[in-house]
Amino acid sequence: MNTKIFEISPEQIDRSAIEEAAEILRSGGLVAFPTETVYGLGGNATDENAAAKIYAAKGRPSDNPLIVHIASPEDAERYAVTNEVYYRLAKAFMPGPLTIILPKKDTIPSTVTGGLDTVALRCPSHPIARALIEAAGVGIAAPSANRSGSPSPSLGEHVIRDLDGRIDAIIDGGSCEIGLESTIISLDGSTATLLRPGAITSDALLCVCNEVKIAPAVTEMLSENERPLSPGMKYRHYAPSAPLVLLDGDPDAVLSFLYRAQNAERCGILCYHDEVDLLRNERLIDIGERDDLAAQAHALFAALRKADDFDCDIIYAHLPKKDGMGLALYNRLIRAAAHTVLSV
Ligand code: AMP
Ligand code: MG
Repeated sequence: MNTKIFEISPEQIDRSAIEEAAEILRSGGLVAFPTETVYGLGGNATDENAAAKIYAAKGRPSDNPLIVHIASPEDAERYAVTNEVYYRLAKAFMPGPLTIILPKKDTIPSTVTGGLDTVALRCPSHPIARALIEAAGVGIAAPSANRSGSPSPSLGEHVIRDLDGRIDAIIDGGSCEIGLESTIISLDGSTATLLRPGAITSDALLCVCNEVKIAPAVTEMLSENERPLSPGMKYRHYAPSAPLVLLDGDPDAVLSFLYRAQNAERCGILCYHDEVDLLRNERLIDIGERDDLAAQAHALFAALRKADDFDCDIIYAHLPKKDGMGLALYNRLIRAAAHTVLSV
């Protein structure tokens, strides 16, 4: 298949290119597009064949449900049974990186929800995503636009590398601001359960919800046969091809471990900015200042892809703390590392 590549600047949106991409979606095709979290691989959310095409293009198991992207929070009425807490959350966090699970309506085929009777809804804030969904005039089912098993794409070139030739079109809109996927919650009255941590933190959710529970799969390894609340959590995502090991210890202990390791083995290292001059290894990747969690989130997936390009036997990274935005970093890294943590 010949994939059409549109280069669109988020600052100056080319309406005719958006219209062309929207027409591809309306006629059952697939278009990858940037959002403020990561790139999404979109198809018409009301078309069961589009969902099948998405699963095929990604190589994704079809029991892993897709998030439906909407142009405004009120569009949820077309696809889901809403409630008062949904609208309070929408007022606080939409458009933005928050996905809410609600009971689904029949407009959404069960192929989109992996057979579940709930649907995940998100209203993105990225100007290209908003323009595209509005122009399509229908909800857009979109998982992250990577091949299953590789890190989510935070740059257009990542999508091109993974999906060129497999889908109808790719909108390259540059770098995604946040770089990690959306926060996903389910609701029970005004209690939220965090199924996937992201840029909307549990502290932020507490401004609207009475209580925020954290689903066990966010931080823990699931035992065999255990069913997570969010089906995607059972898959080993974002895995680089060399094994990733997370280092837990105080900053000096981690640094001296890395000193020794880089002399002894061919390792890639995801390090903090202040460590770059101290380590001086050709396989270092600077993921940002130690305390700048937003910068680290922005850099993480590109760093994992880059580490894959180094010909190394092992990759080391710091084990993030679990508070605030750190929980999202922890969740992505612990899964990429298949829960391999070394205390030093
Ligand atoms: P991605 O599309 O790659 O960002 O992944 C979407 C995530 O949303 C997956 O981990 C899914 O398991 C989760 N998800 C989507 N729909 C639902 C749903 N109805 N209930 C629970 N989790 C969902
Ligand atoms: Mg994904």
